[in-house]
Amino acid sequence: MSDCVFCRIVAGQIPSTRVFEDEDTVAFMDIGQVNPGHVLVAVKRHADNLYALDEAQAAAVARTSARVARAIRDAFAPAGLSVYQANGKAAGQTVFHYHVHLLPRHEADGMELTWPVKNPPREKLEGYAEKIRTQLA
Ligand code: 5GP
Ligand code: ZN
Repeated sequence: MSDCVFCRIVAGQIPSTRVFEDEDTVAFMDIGQVNPGHVLVAVKRHADNLYALDEAQAAAVARTSARVARAIRDAFAPAGLSVYQANGKAAGQTVFHYHVHLLPRHEADGMELTWPVKNPPREKLEGYAEKIRTQLA
């Protein structure tokens, strides 16, 4: 039996409250429910994080996330919805099986993400972009 809690959920070895599934993804209620209607979209085949997804998994997660997000909007009429996804412990990942949070939001709901902007000069942006482009080439 897998040690990975989400692999066990996918396999039905531990219970989950599912809302949707297709060939590559499963969407189920986050046990923590930061706000009512908080759903996780996970890949079925284990991938640790975003870096490990293949093309089909990446496309399937995007499709399922958009579809389930619209259902959450229609079911709960939240004031907003955050899409949250963590890769690595430093980013706050606690379950190392790729998943996306669909989190309904309300004014002053206590959900905080500090965003310490640096606003560097354009030359800095160019330098950062060039490093990434080199890897993409
Ligand atoms: P992250 O890795 O993105 O920080 O968060 C993992 C999320 O998985 C948490 O929000 C946590 O509540 C949820 N979670 C952890 N274990 C289980 C579980 O066994 N079942 C469900 N439904 N959610 C879980
Ligand atoms: Zn897994």
